[in-house]
Amino acid sequence: MTITEKVAYIQGLFDGMGLDKSKEPQAKVLSEVLDVLREIGDEIDMLDATLDEHGKEFDGVEDAINDLTEGLTELEDEVYGVDDDDDEDDDDDDFFQVECPNCGEELTIDEDVLEAGSIDCPKCGQKFALSFDEDEDEEDGDD
Ligand SMILES: [Zn+2]
Repeated sequence: MTITEKVAYIQGLFDGMGLDKSKEPQAKVLSEVLDVLREIGDEIDMLDATLDEHGKEFDGVEDAINDLTEGLTELEDEVYGVDDDDDEDDDDDDFFQVECPNCGEELTIDEDVLEAGSIDCPKCGQKFALSFDEDEDEEDGDD
């Protein structure tokens, strides 16, 4: 039941009581309250209708945003060159050899791992930091 319908129902009950608004103060108050309720119901009906209208508009906006997002994704793919054939990129890939300080396993890492700064050794599971600073080239150990 909508509010309007409920109010109409209460109005019906009220009318059925056969109260005389002009003689009974309670009836007068009830009648006034019912008037207000009916107005509120009308307002809400109007709001609902307005919301429905806007709901359609929102759908349109959503579609537009989806289109934009798709366009952006395509653009991104072009800018970052995320293609299936990245053959020509192979030359750019730099791989590094590092030795696990725990088990001595030779590991081949790429730039992504290097930038992450640490790696989990696939052999022993030890996590260790990657540093390719020439300065720390074991010179300190000679002392
Ligand atoms: Zn290891």
